[in-house]
Amino acid sequence: MARARRIRTRRRLRAADVLVTVLVTSVALAVALYLAYGGLNDVTDVASAVTALGIVTGLVGTDLILVMLVLAARIPLIDRTVGQDVAMALHRRLGKPALYLILAHGALLTLGYALSSGVDVVAETLTLFNTPDLAFAYLGVGLLVAVVVSSLVAVRRRFPYEVWHAIHLVSYAAVLVALPHQLSAGGVLADGTVQRVYWLALYVLAFGAIGWYRFVLPVIRSHRHGITVSGIETIAPGVVSIHLTGRDLDRLQTAGGQYAIWRFWTAGTWWHAHPISFSAVPTRTSARITVRDLGRGSRELGRVPVGTRVSIEGPYGLFTDAARTSPHLAVVAAGIGITPIRSLLEHSPLSRGEATVLLRGTDESQSYLWNEVGALSRTAGSAIYSMIGPRPRGVDTWMSAEAISAGVTLSSVFPRLTDSDLYVCGPQAWTDLVVRDARAAGLTDRQIHVERFDW
Ligand SMILES: Cc1cc2nc3c(=O)[nH]c(=O)nc-3n(C[C@H](O)[C@H](O)[C@H](O)COP(=O)(O)OP(=O)(O)OC[C@H]3O[C@@H](n4cnc5c(N)ncnc54)[C@H](O)[C@@H]3O)c2cc1C
Repeated sequence: MARARRIRTRRRLRAADVLVTVLVTSVALAVALYLAYGGLNDVTDVASAVTALGIVTGLVGTDLILVMLVLAARIPLIDRTVGQDVAMALHRRLGKPALYLILAHGALLTLGYALSSGVDVVAETLTLFNTPDLAFAYLGVGLLVAVVVSSLVAVRRRFPYEVWHAIHLVSYAAVLVALPHQLSAGGVLADGTVQRVYWLALYVLAFGAIGWYRFVLPVIRSHRHGITVSGIETIAPGVVSIHLTGRDLDRLQTAGGQYAIWRFWTAGTWWHAHPISFSAVPTRTSARITVRDLGRGSRELGRVPVGTRVSIEGPYGLFTDAARTSPHLAVVAAGIGITPIRSLLEHSPLSRGEATVLLRGTDESQSYLWNEVGALSRTAGSAIYSMIGPRPRGVDTWMSAEAISAGVTLSSVFPRLTDSDLYVCGPQAWTDLVVRDARAAGLTDRQIHVERFDW
């Protein structure tokens, strides 16, 4: 088992390296092709040097945007290799650099053209604005600014998720409306060149992946499995398990710990798809999710009638046994974060004593699915503990006041911690504190696995 895990981890890390290499190569190739087609031949003075720099920033910026689209396309290979959350974190990190490069592209080209024609920048901007295809490029930049600004954490938190999501979808339009100027302006991507083929292939790849994996495949999958609600079970105030039934659900090949994006087709819920973890591994005909009322949308889910049709996008995520790197397993769950933990434990092939589970709640009312996790742990011979009680005031900790005063630490709960993979799921700030303690205890990032319930 340990050897198989080592081989699997090595393969996954190698695949991750290949993905990073592809990303870097795509940027390098964009610049290399420009140089190979004599991009610098026309550089004779300051104006042409500024123009060339403007072209290069545009090529790199556009390449990064297309890479961002690929990262957001939910391609299974990327999800299996690094996980959708890591892919999206990189997607977010590339947003600002890409925008700055595109803004620099516009500014440098305007300046370069103005210098070579001997007119001022305002006059040159007006001329460019009236050039076919370039007005669309300006529109693309405007849309891109709106997308990046709306994604800044401070701005994003002011909007409901749907508004942010709708603005974000505009990024597809921003890229598409800028395409014509790339093909027509300046002759950089002239007909019959490898450059043109390369760029068109990148566009087809990025938009093809988005179209297929985010739109077509979910429709096919939802139709094929015919999922409907078969029952709603209240398991605590504000928390329901939604039982689902469908055809060949085992063919989804869901691993315990994964989530899907669900859309419930009732008048009040169809417009908002929710990412929700499987709280049990699907059988051929049934699946289950468990939802806590965290807002208007999730509250509505607890009231959908039996028979409601459900669309599925996924399963996604690497919060699974496939991410394991170490011989032991340490698990910490709090609140509704129990859901992926429950299916992870159900699905993981565990030997006796391999896993230790810690369930955390502020009070007894938060012990959702604890009885099921207890039963799974007993069957697998795993140690299981609970820690109930509020946190102490004024102390930055994820533990209860009682545990703190009894001298409990992460290492005392998990004696083989440094030899373990740690899986954590719970409220955001609480999770960060567990991770902080895990790092302080000597765990590496590869050993720490977190499922975040935010966007
Ligand atoms: C990978 C993942 C797995 C999850 N698994 C579960 C689960 O098993 N059980 C469960 O109860 N909840 C789970 N969630 C959280 C759940 O998706 C949100 O609570 C739910 O979508 C909130 O919708 P709302 O309309 O009720 O809330 P809103 O009023 O819109 O927002 C309430 C909170 O939910 C967050 N939220 C809203 N929409 C989304 C969205 N589409 N994606 C991510 N966060 C959103 C907001 O940041 C906000 O903090 C999971 C989230 C993620 C990302």
